[in-house]
Amino acid sequence: MDNFAFLLPVTMTLFGVVFLAIGWRGHAAARAWSAGFLLGAAGFLAPILPLPNKLQSLFGNAVFLASFFYYGEALLRQFAAPRITGLRLAFCLLAYGAILVVVVGLESLNLELAVSDTAIAALLGVPVMLVSHRARTLVDRVLVGVATIVVIDILVRLLIFNVFIGMSDNLAAFASSTYTYYMQVSAGVLSVGFALSALGSVAFQTLDRYRAEAERDPLTGLFNRRGFDAAVAALSPIERHAGVVLTFDIDHFKAVNDSFGHAAGDSVLTSLAELLGQRLPPQAIIARFGGEEFVALVHSMPLAAGTALAQSIRAEFSARDWRPAGVEHAVTLCVGLTSLSPADLSIHDGLARADRALYAAKAAGRNRVMIDAGEAYVPGLRVVTTADRANRA
Ligand code: GH3
Ligand code: MG
Ligand code: MG
Repeated sequence: MDNFAFLLPVTMTLFGVVFLAIGWRGHAAARAWSAGFLLGAAGFLAPILPLPNKLQSLFGNAVFLASFFYYGEALLRQFAAPRITGLRLAFCLLAYGAILVVVVGLESLNLELAVSDTAIAALLGVPVMLVSHRARTLVDRVLVGVATIVVIDILVRLLIFNVFIGMSDNLAAFASSTYTYYMQVSAGVLSVGFALSALGSVAFQTLDRYRAEAERDPLTGLFNRRGFDAAVAALSPIERHAGVVLTFDIDHFKAVNDSFGHAAGDSVLTSLAELLGQRLPPQAIIARFGGEEFVALVHSMPLAAGTALAQSIRAEFSARDWRPAGVEHAVTLCVGLTSLSPADLSIHDGLARADRALYAAKAAGRNRVMIDAGEAYVPGLRVVTTADRANRA
């Protein structure tokens, strides 16, 4: 049993160090996991410290409370839930005050365990409840499941030993009691499971975060080319071959940059990205293909509906007042449009046709929508807006 008592702090320290290394690289939840496991390791060392019994137990209770405070912190951080730090800290202080009274004043082991076990169950249990609906992936659900079992284990242990069996209030007997043995076995198995599931969740979340970042354009938050290709690949073959592809290109954008600065140009780009997100339907896959060229694939949309949509986006963009962004004149836009065909080998066939239609729109004088019609390009039916007239004037 002595060997076993050493094993637990050692494994928890190892996990603590692994999480510390991950946390060092900027993962805040991993730092909190690290604190939780290192403090937990220190807590299991308490009974073998060369200290008087009361001091051992005061030390052990303090680090266990801190350890579970950090487990809760780690869960809340990992699932981006409200951290209720003040509330949890106040609860820790209150619980420790009660433990002080019980250990020093009342000298009751039963009460000490009741207070400390209830407190640590709450410090982990409340965060578990706050994050449970946020766990979406399998690993995240496993983590929440294991954390729930840890809480239940604490409560069951408390109930069995305190209520049903009852224990002698003899501190010397406690050190080698069944309670200690049971606690070490369950804590050993559960803490390894807990650490592994937390590690899995941290690892998967990190991978997902980097993959998502690799597929996004940092300026607009839209997909980049890689993200667009991945999103298209996730469509069904039917969706990939029916619908419209639109390419958008801002007119004389270089002049916007040259006259009003790169920052003003950037806000025109982000505004266009927002407009596309708002006006295109939810199934649209929207991307920024570098520079001021945007692309959208809207599956299951007929060409006529796509053309009307393109026209309304063009008109709305051209009518914008850019003065708040530091651009003193109207900015216009061309759209090239094509329908996807079952004969297309890949989305790149559709993109190439839409691009050619876009080029035709530029050649025809800009601020217009052009539809690819095989051999020729057809101007999209144009709703002339007041802004259009003003632009021409
Ligand atoms: P056209 O009407 O023929 O499309 O002319 P244009 O000036 O819009 O096209 P061109 O391709 O010559 O210029 C695109 C400009 O886009 C060049 C570059 O300064 C600008 N640009 C590319 N990426 C960014 C960016 O991230 N931010 C800003 N502000 N400008 C960018
Ligand atoms: Mg341009
Ligand atoms: Mg361009």
